[in-house]
Amino acid sequence: MVATQRSAAAPTHGWPIWGHDAAVDGLRREIVDGRVRHAYLIAGPDGVGKTTLATLFAQALCCQDPDGAASGVPCGRCLACRKIARGVHPDVQTFGLASQATRAEKLGTKNTSLTIETIRELCATTALRPMEARWRVVLVEDAETLQGVAQEALLKTLEEPPAAVVLILLSDDAELLLPTIRSRCQLVELRPVGRGTVTASLVAAGVEPARADEIAALAGGAPGWARRAAADPKLSQARRDACERAVAWVAGSVYDRMVAAVRLGDTFSKRRAEVFADLDALLGVWRDALLLRADLPHYLTYRGFAERLSELARGWELDDLHRAVCAVRTCIADLEANVRPRLALEAMVLQWPTLLPERP
Ligand SMILES: [Zn+2]
Repeated sequence: MVATQRSAAAPTHGWPIWGHDAAVDGLRREIVDGRVRHAYLIAGPDGVGKTTLATLFAQALCCQDPDGAASGVPCGRCLACRKIARGVHPDVQTFGLASQATRAEKLGTKNTSLTIETIRELCATTALRPMEARWRVVLVEDAETLQGVAQEALLKTLEEPPAAVVLILLSDDAELLLPTIRSRCQLVELRPVGRGTVTASLVAAGVEPARADEIAALAGGAPGWARRAAADPKLSQARRDACERAVAWVAGSVYDRMVAAVRLGDTFSKRRAEVFADLDALLGVWRDALLLRADLPHYLTYRGFAERLSELARGWELDDLHRAVCAVRTCIADLEANVRPRLALEAMVLQWPTLLPERP
């Protein structure tokens, strides 16, 4: 069974990435046809493969192997490909919360959004000619956290793009960027990868099939997360626990839901990453409830909770469930935009459909 899934899902385009065939084909064709753009926006959920795709694109743009350069398929062996994989190529830079963190620590400021200083540094980089490759490639991770003034500064670079520069923005939520930024980028949208493909990617990496399937069931279509979970069992356990909490939250009374929202809101500043992880699990759980109600069980994110959710979902209409999914998405966007946490979380739970009164 797994072998069939594997051959069906194995990448055929030559880039070592699972899923996202249309995105890879599009980017490859642009290189082959000499139509590379100045700016791209790769959008999709956390762990879905944005950084992997951007890194492979950078390799394809800079590959020194004649065949690789002509076909738009990075060879993975030349000096340029190897330097990019190790993050040490002088013409490929990455800016993001991680690279900003060291300086933020020194200044004692919070490192939750990309600042104007980081974008100024980025703009200075784009002014330089490439040293070794044909292109200078600049990756901007966590683009959804760009502050307003930082977005405006970036917009200037996008409006007058320097020659030989390719800017690649990566974002969990492209909607949080200014429309003027989005319209100047070629949008590459990455959707969650099918569970069979995630399983196959793990099996191909040497994970035992039953365990691969178990991890894929929790991965929510994110092969990157699945790979990390295969190396660190604590991640799977944490995701399972987050799903348990999410199901309990969904199944709670109006009062219990509000208490949970307040508690989470009050700890947001100290446990930001955990709160976002809980909300991601919650989004998956509500989406699964919607899919179960719509009789579409093949698309479930977290299969292990199907029975319980199915029972809950029976009491609600599709519209109710759709509103709940939207409310979680809004809450995540509000928290990323620094709305007061308690307010954002309370507003979310108030949008959820209530449970049917218990029978006496
Ligand atoms: Zn190469």
